[in-house]
Amino acid sequence: MINNIKKDFPLLNKKINNKQIVYLDNAATTQKPDAVIYAISDYYNKYNANVYRGIYKISEEATVEYELAHARVADFISCHKEEIIFTKNTTESINLLAYSFLNSTLLIGEINKNDNKKESKEDNKEENLFILNKGDEILLTEMEHHSNLVPWQQLAKKLGLKLRFMKIDKKGKFIIDKRLFTEKTRIVAVTHVSNVLGTINDVKKIVKLAHMQNALVVVDAAQSVPHMPVNVHELDCDFMAFSGHKMLASTGIGCLYGKKKLLEKMQPFMYGGGMIHLVDCENASWNNLPMKFEAGTPPIAEAISMTAAIDYLTKQGMKNIRRHEMELTTYALERLKKIKGLVIYGPDTAEERCGVISFNLKNIHPHDIATVLDKENIAIRAGNHCSQPLMNALQTNATCRVSFYLYNTFDDIDRLVKCLEKVKKIFS
Ligand code: PMP
Repeated sequence: MINNIKKDFPLLNKKINNKQIVYLDNAATTQKPDAVIYAISDYYNKYNANVYRGIYKISEEATVEYELAHARVADFISCHKEEIIFTKNTTESINLLAYSFLNSTLLIGEINKNDNKKESKEDNKEENLFILNKGDEILLTEMEHHSNLVPWQQLAKKLGLKLRFMKIDKKGKFIIDKRLFTEKTRIVAVTHVSNVLGTINDVKKIVKLAHMQNALVVVDAAQSVPHMPVNVHELDCDFMAFSGHKMLASTGIGCLYGKKKLLEKMQPFMYGGGMIHLVDCENASWNNLPMKFEAGTPPIAEAISMTAAIDYLTKQGMKNIRRHEMELTTYALERLKKIKGLVIYGPDTAEERCGVISFNLKNIHPHDIATVLDKENIAIRAGNHCSQPLMNALQTNATCRVSFYLYNTFDDIDRLVKCLEKVKKIFS
């Protein structure tokens, strides 16, 4: 059971106009516990130095902690530490992949074309996975966050690829149409959990269908890894992206998981210090994983905050967190459904969704609702949630969105519902 943990989060105890904040915008970013804030200040107070370079104690300590952060994240999603690359956020992780595929296509494709003695296609199987030819397809869904859409649009424009989409049904689930998986499908990029509807998608099934066509699967896990146990080994996806700031860690740290055998064959996307092995005036070779993809001074304090965040989440237990959020979601769905004129988007039950609920109140703009709630110190999100294609599919411009995390309570939901009734009165 998760009980009485708001005390661990200083911002949640802050009062404005004598009212404690009800923070319901966790899909955007989460609050930080003391343990995370202390871990960051500890680094700056006690062992601030660059990693890998210094032959002195504080640099060695910083290096140990930075490397430990890779290991902690790897344990958390069940992979090897070389398979975790630190980036700035989910967005950068997905861009890294798109740029790497572009570089691989340009570079390996060119080498293969010019090399008469090239090994057979079979020998080069893994390397050739990254070579994209005109007319090849990237399969996405209508519910992608712009971060898992725009990088693929740009890649498609540069290489003449085609984008295809799995449509969503009335309940906010995407329809897995097997006919969309063809020999032309080279990349399948899907969100694990929708940041608008909370829908939990059947990634395992997608991976099976994609692998039958030799396509690579990229999972946007920004809304799943923070909220439920996730095991990349079991899912068997090829890549996964998520952000530290959505799971109690600081901003400025994101993760990209990739299967080791794939990362080893891929081309880097950023070049410079740290990611090289040997350099002469004309050429350079690349460092081992994960450094090959972490050019320049990395986010050291931010990575250390990730260790503290994962320690905190693990202590609470990811299964308990998922259960707690399911209870909150069930309660919230029940109470919201009773408000006349309120439309809820997405699946009916908490089993099918994470703790994210989008809704609209008839004839009241979501921004007006959020503004009134803010007066009561209740923080929710209103807008298109960086998901304009999904808004089009839902036939709306914007929604209100509440999203829960481990520290939210039934009382938070009661305050929300009470205030929504007030909103209705103001605008009636
Ligand atoms: N994907 C999803 C599903 C998200 O919810 C978000 C954040 N709202 C992102 C990607 C982008 O995350 P970041 O801004 O941390 O890069």
